[in-house]
Amino acid sequence: MDLKEIALAWTNAIVKPVDVQVLASQRKEICNVCEHKKQEFGIDVCKVCHCPLYAKVYSPYDSCPENKWPR
Ligand code: SF4
Repeated sequence: MDLKEIALAWTNAIVKPVDVQVLASQRKEICNVCEHKKQEFGIDVCKVCHCPLYAKVYSPYDSCPENKWPR
């Protein structure tokens, strides 16, 4: 992800537009039962890509490194 995509992900995580919220909810359900989710400094992180999941699930341009998210 480039800086523009990271900024969009965090903006979406704060503003929570309805269409992105639906996508994020689907992704969160998958991440919550994934063996690659871990806690680092009190936040959920993907241990494959090392991204904080709170923002990652809100990025329309991001993808799961293990191809577990719907396309
Ligand atoms: S992004 Fe993919 S690999 Fe990472 S925790 Fe979520 S489902 Fe697992």
